[in-house]
Amino acid sequence: MATVPYLTLNNGVTIPQLGFGVYLVPQEQTQRVVEEALEAGYRHIDTAAAYGNEAGVGAAIAACGLPRDEIFVTTKLRNGEHGVAAEAFEVSRRALRVDVIDLYLIHWPVPSQGLFVNVWQTLEKIYAAGGVRAIGVSNFLPDHLDTLLAETTVVPAVNQIELHPTFQQGALSAAFRGHGVAVEAYSPLGRGADLNADAVTALAAKHGVSPAQIVLAWHLGVGNIAIPKSTHVDRIRENLAAAQVTLSSGELDLITALDSNARIGADPATAAFTQM
Ligand code: NAP
Repeated sequence: MATVPYLTLNNGVTIPQLGFGVYLVPQEQTQRVVEEALEAGYRHIDTAAAYGNEAGVGAAIAACGLPRDEIFVTTKLRNGEHGVAAEAFEVSRRALRVDVIDLYLIHWPVPSQGLFVNVWQTLEKIYAAGGVRAIGVSNFLPDHLDTLLAETTVVPAVNQIELHPTFQQGALSAAFRGHGVAVEAYSPLGRGADLNADAVTALAAKHGVSPAQIVLAWHLGVGNIAIPKSTHVDRIRENLAAAQVTLSSGELDLITALDSNARIGADPATAAFTQM
């Protein structure tokens, strides 16, 4: 079974650097794929209220037989629930069937709603009460972090952002790391789009591993937390085994050179959807 490194967050909590994401995993498949991921050796699951599959994650955690404290589970507050964050947290906690959530994130800042500071203050209270081991943000830009730092007390433990070889957000990552905020890469494979780049396929051939393993080894090598998603057990295992692939600094640089501002998802400065 692959050994995944742990990173220590700014409050001392440790997080497996390679986790398993479940966005777009249908609710009826979620228990199965999360159990397969846990069986393969993942100990970090990333879900969100908006994904509609927290109950499947909770069912897998309950059924897998692992001690609760061996599994790191993250979920996120929906954009449309910024005004009812405390209630939404309780709904997630019940769906996940856990007493304590490991990491709770504001899914998007939605600056047009103007509520993320209030939300953060609610998360600070949940954290102080022991309902969550760490609180963080997702899709936050440096000016959103500056607002939190100026108006609230707890520094976010992580910022979960779109980050893959063709969209690296280096300046944004550096700004957050400069304040002790760990960078967590979502869509770490570029939803598959980054796997055909010549540098990726050439390194895969050189190391005798898959393109996905090269991309994930790059994430781990440059210090990102990464949460690839797959519904196929062979890929679930393959992605985890990337923790055993080590790239030299020159090889890491070859992947870093692929950066080309190829955003896939929404721009957090303007994203204002409330269905998520
Ligand atoms: P991703 O992990 O980069 O890519 C997933 C896609 O790649 C799926 O189509 C999957 O197909 C395919 N894939 C997975 N492993 C593969 C492999 N070894 N070889 C070839 N193809 C492979 O993208 P993502 O799902 O967007 O992001 C991962 C996680 O990040 C999500 O599940 C979610 O937890 C999180 N996320 C967070 C946000 C946010 O706003 N905070 C936004 C997006 C995602 P199959 O499933 O068919 O194998």
